[in-house]
Amino acid sequence: MILSTIAALATAKGRGALHVVRLSGPQALVVAQRVFSARGAWVPRKAMLGIFHSADGRDLDEGLATWFKGPASFTGEDVVEFGLHGAAYIAEEALTALLAAGAELAAPGEFTQRAFAHGKLDLAQAEAVGDLIAAESRAGHELALKQLKGTVSRKLSELRRQMTDFAALIELELDFVEEDVEFAHRDQLLSVLDQLVAECTTMHATFRHGQAIRDGIPLVLLGAPNAGKSTLLNRLLRDDRALVSAVPGTTRDSVEERFRLGDYVFRLIDTAGIRATEDQIEQMGIERSWNKLAEAHLAVVLVDPTETTAESARELVEKVREANPEAELTVLLTKSDLWGAFDRSAYPKHLVFGPEEEALSRLEAHLLDRIRQHEPEGNVLIANARHASALLATIESLSRARVSLTQGTSGELVAYDLRDALRQLGSITGEITADDLLGSIFSSFCIGK
Ligand code: GDP
Repeated sequence: MILSTIAALATAKGRGALHVVRLSGPQALVVAQRVFSARGAWVPRKAMLGIFHSADGRDLDEGLATWFKGPASFTGEDVVEFGLHGAAYIAEEALTALLAAGAELAAPGEFTQRAFAHGKLDLAQAEAVGDLIAAESRAGHELALKQLKGTVSRKLSELRRQMTDFAALIELELDFVEEDVEFAHRDQLLSVLDQLVAECTTMHATFRHGQAIRDGIPLVLLGAPNAGKSTLLNRLLRDDRALVSAVPGTTRDSVEERFRLGDYVFRLIDTAGIRATEDQIEQMGIERSWNKLAEAHLAVVLVDPTETTAESARELVEKVREANPEAELTVLLTKSDLWGAFDRSAYPKHLVFGPEEEALSRLEAHLLDRIRQHEPEGNVLIANARHASALLATIESLSRARVSLTQGTSGELVAYDLRDALRQLGSITGEITADDLLGSIFSSFCIGK
């Protein structure tokens, strides 16, 4: 049972129009009343105007307090939220006053963890709170919101229900093992198992895309030196400088920037120019270019046809395709303004790229199109590595159960593997969880969440 009452600043530190300070726990109202003189009686879910007092009894601010009487609150406990003027000084003094009045400073993610503990959210939904706050694009935001609203959880609980029914049937048979009763045809059981494996596999397969939506879609630029990679990088980044964050490295190393395009955030990775060289440092850079390619969902190969032959361009494209067959590959023929009377027939399928604005828009539309093709059907997208690995473990257990079932091994083994599958699947929503897992999930949240 949770006895402590926790307090934290829920808004970002620093100066703004407002700050929200949050209080949750059995003593929330008592603590609030010690520091806040409301004009009028405290009524649940009503914003009350009043004076917030500092720990030494001074008037600190005029603001609002709203009391959410548990269990009808975010955490399921009594919660009081204060809306104060957005000075860093006021926020600090308000927190000090709350601590002096009996509250404890909240640990990172503790509000959400309490919401989970009181059954307000399941674990996948609690994690979605973190993703929602971190979302940088429309697609990332939609993904987190769906998870928060329980789309993933509902799908999982449907699967769990099917598995439980199935396990119950097998276990029932075990109870009648002496009589050698079969409650269901083996064929039927196998087809149910196959369907469960297929559904889990489909869900797991969405992880590659889901993770990219959440963390940024890896887009790798490759090509010979001077093919126009840096120029393209700068042009793609034009309006979204605010998102840019260069990963430290030398100019010969890969450079990574983030930019938003349409509904998505991309991780744009510019690599060292690929060519045969004796220079060791340059070779290392080129080695890294190939490594970076392994991460790519989209690979853009730039070819300057005035500087290279169609043959060597083809070789490069082939190598790229071999190195990462999963990546969507786009070949750009760059510097079209310099071509003059150039014969394009050697490059029939490639996209033409030049300095004009229209070439850039064409490329952007093309990239968005490629990504949209990977949007999985259905509503559920797995974006969390923990969920993906639990799904994989579920699939493995189900597959073991299938082997036992086909080989006519004892029902006990089948039942054991099914229970294991249920446990793995249940760990996603937190129906079955270890304390250390909870600790590691919530500690990655910031304080006040
Ligand atoms: P990188 O080595 O592949 O990154 O290539 P850069 O982007 O640094 O470009 C190499 C040179 O080609 C620079 O001098 C650019 O200004 C020039 N360049 C890049 N794109 C174009 C283009 O579309 N037209 C022309 N005329 N020059 C370009």
